Amino acid sequence: MAITADTLRHAATRARDAAALAQDDLNAADGRLGDGDTGVMLRRLFEAVATAIPAHENDLGIVFQACARACASGTGSSLGTLVTVAMMTLAKATRGRSEIGWDELGGLLASIRDQMMARGGAKLGDKTVVDMIDAVASALAHCATRDEATVAAQKAAQDALDAFRARPNKLGRARMFGERTIGLDDPGMLAFSRLLAAVAA
Ligand SMILES: [Mg+2]
Repeated sequence: MAITADTLRHAATRARDAAALAQDDLNAADGRLGDGDTGVMLRRLFEAVATAIPAHENDLGIVFQACARACASGTGSSLGTLVTVAMMTLAKATRGRSEIGWDELGGLLASIRDQMMARGGAKLGDKTVVDMIDAVASALAHCATRDEATVAAQKAAQDALDAFRARPNKLGRARMFGERTIGLDDPGMLAFSRLLAAVAA
């Protein structure tokens, strides 16, 4: 079974519900090293995505384009910009296609990682969502089925959270907290892992 527009519609609903459930945890994580708005931003973003996703459209590129538009108009936050970049990257890569294979996910995520680095200025090792996406992209590189991808992606996300918790944040407002960020999860990485867990379930 490949990934189709129906897969995306289900995923969008799950992501919306997961973002609502994770809102308080993510606000709290962001509040320890930023302005405490990651949870509310993520909830608004994925509410907008779930609402904007077309009900009767098979072209994955058009579906992702609608998601990108919803993200771009839904928030002016840096998180919103990154999710918009991700959706635009996917729209461009899947235009004219009604399905993609699970074995293509790793390459698509790697493209998203590269576009985010180009747009947001994050480098690998800065302890941002880019590090999380890099880890999951690598883990997905050898997956051919939904079951393989589900297990590998969730393990990679947990391993990345655990590995980076012991390191300091090196970008954005969190960077000002320096060594005090050691022992804390980056809110963007945490947000990605929560969405992934919901979508993969
Ligand atoms: Mg914030």
